[in-house]
Amino acid sequence: MPINYYSTNRSVPEVTLDAALLEGQARDRGLYLPDQFPQITSEELASWTESSYADIAFNVLSRFTEGVFSEDHMKRMCAEVYDFDVPIENVDGNKHIMRLDRGPTASFKDFAARMMARWMGSLSDGVDGQLVILTATSGDTGSAVAHAYQGVDGIKIVVLFPIEEVSARQRKQMTTIGANVATIGIDGKFDDCQAMVKRAFSDPDLAAINLTSANSINIGRLLPQSVYYCYAYVQLARPAMRESISFSIPSGNFGDMMGAVIAREMGVPIRRIIVATNANDEVPELLRTGSYRKIAPSKPCISNAMNVGHPSNLARLVDLYGGWLDENGTLQKAPDIDRMRRDIYAVSISDDQTRATIKNVYDRFGILLEPHGAVGWAGMEQYFRDHADAREDLTVCIETAHPAKFPDEIKAVVGVDPVPPPSLANLDASREEYGQMSCDYAALRDWLLSRYA
Ligand SMILES: *Cc1c(COP(=O)(O)O)cnc(C)c1O
Repeated sequence: MPINYYSTNRSVPEVTLDAALLEGQARDRGLYLPDQFPQITSEELASWTESSYADIAFNVLSRFTEGVFSEDHMKRMCAEVYDFDVPIENVDGNKHIMRLDRGPTASFKDFAARMMARWMGSLSDGVDGQLVILTATSGDTGSAVAHAYQGVDGIKIVVLFPIEEVSARQRKQMTTIGANVATIGIDGKFDDCQAMVKRAFSDPDLAAINLTSANSINIGRLLPQSVYYCYAYVQLARPAMRESISFSIPSGNFGDMMGAVIAREMGVPIRRIIVATNANDEVPELLRTGSYRKIAPSKPCISNAMNVGHPSNLARLVDLYGGWLDENGTLQKAPDIDRMRRDIYAVSISDDQTRATIKNVYDRFGILLEPHGAVGWAGMEQYFRDHADAREDLTVCIETAHPAKFPDEIKAVVGVDPVPPPSLANLDASREEYGQMSCDYAALRDWLLSRYA
């Protein structure tokens, strides 16, 4: 049965996947979630142990796209999108690192941005005029989205980024593309960029523009992120014995961890989801105290892609645990905190701990982590200190980006200059082009109208 998508604010009717993808944010300013999670049995999981990443992606995602994209079309899209490695390294005992940095822009954002670009590209044929994809980035979404949609007919990309809080290589990855991609440096934080984007989606003055989102506000950015959790599980665990697995996920806007939540809802035996934040600890605090307070302005940390003081996807997480978090960040109904604590372990890691972890993992294992991955590793270590009985559990830390995206920090900590992958080579000398804007919604609205109306 095809799946419908409801808004976390529950004041608009359910829609099908194509509408959810094109709208991005629901019209009541809630976020879409599937009304059911298709189940994957342990027999199916056991039969995937030799499957390629693309085949697993097809098996997982076609359950959500039924009725919208044909099986043949989905099979083709998965093969085209997932043509890069997904290495999983055993580090120590039962602890592993899964590197999600081998895509064209060297962060995990490629996994979903590329699939979503295919989905939207197929749907844009049915849209009158051009589709304008407005996106806020904390560092890596911008380049992944810009790269994924580059040159797609009928689609324009606008990326807002916090001008002071992205690394030079992160910035160059999006400002050197040109063509249908416009980038604007905002004199503010990621949360400001995200708030401007959300406001634009619900602004009647912009009704003449077909605006949509490629942020993880869009359900299209979440579904593909469930696949690598399924993949890691079948690579490492014994599905026939219902062996369980835990993941440690460095988190900012909580889209990546929602992929693990979706995989678990589909039946993958995930014992614990460890979410590790930087000093922006609003979610660890929510789990500790049961009350939610966003952090404004967010704190600037070296794991810059996680400098988020009010994660969009928290509304989805709260919804799945029986609560309601509205678009202003107010908990209208408390979620089941006890159940959340059983499933999720949340911890905040300081910049000092992050640097110490980069050094320690390098010295002990010869493995180079970048700041986000190091937050994840440190979060796992803290979890084991708190749960001695879990130390032998099968555990996978997610490395979300390539170390060469953050050369200065890594050079300072371990004295090594990480070798850029081919996707990052030549970037340093490329010519950049980007606009600058103060953190002023009216300026963004006027700019959008002058360009796209
Ligand atoms: C975006 C990003 C994160 C955080 O992911 P969320 O889905 O926002 O929680 C972590 N690490 C890197 C490198 C990122 O680009």
